Amino acid sequence: MSGSPQDKLQKSLQKAGRQAAEQNLHSVNLIEWRRLSLSAEGQLPLARFSRLLDGMPEQLPQASVSWSARCVRGVRGEPRFELEVKADPLVECQRCLEPFPWPIDVHATFDLVDSEAELNAEVPVDEDGEVLEEPERLLCSGRFDLMSLIEDELVLAVPYVPRHAQCELPVDVEPAPELPERPSPFAALAALKDKKQ
Ligand SMILES: [Zn+2]
Repeated sequence: MSGSPQDKLQKSLQKAGRQAAEQNLHSVNLIEWRRLSLSAEGQLPLARFSRLLDGMPEQLPQASVSWSARCVRGVRGEPRFELEVKADPLVECQRCLEPFPWPIDVHATFDLVDSEAELNAEVPVDEDGEVLEEPERLLCSGRFDLMSLIEDELVLAVPYVPRHAQCELPVDVEPAPELPERPSPFAALAALKDKKQ
């Protein structure tokens, strides 16, 4: 049974809204975000992250990715971009080949810069020549691909060779030989013969 025309309209509007929201995530005006210290959050179907899911086992149909992002000021007033990404994709254990959930909860901070030159500038060092720890840099553009950054964080959070901490079945145990469910009549006969001897 399909819904009423109103229901259908409502559903197609919701779908259009979701698509528009996703479209926006590919082109975020980060310059405005920085100017107004904007923030946003949302949920996306895990299935949309095809680069992440390449080579991964089949996912649960309702699996989703939660994200939240904001522009803030660092302690010296420097503009920063913060991103949190949460998901529970299924990965395949490379020892026993069983899928299992891999919880992801990433908090990433970036320094916002205005030019490629700043982006590629050498990392600052202290007087002893030690590299100072600072956040990764992000080019602050008017058409920033937030969707792609969310996917980058997901990809980085999944191990290259996922493994259970402890597999249910140790793989070095030999599989049980295939036995018939019931003893065969011949076996029963043989046992009877043994008894008679
Ligand atoms: Zn395993």
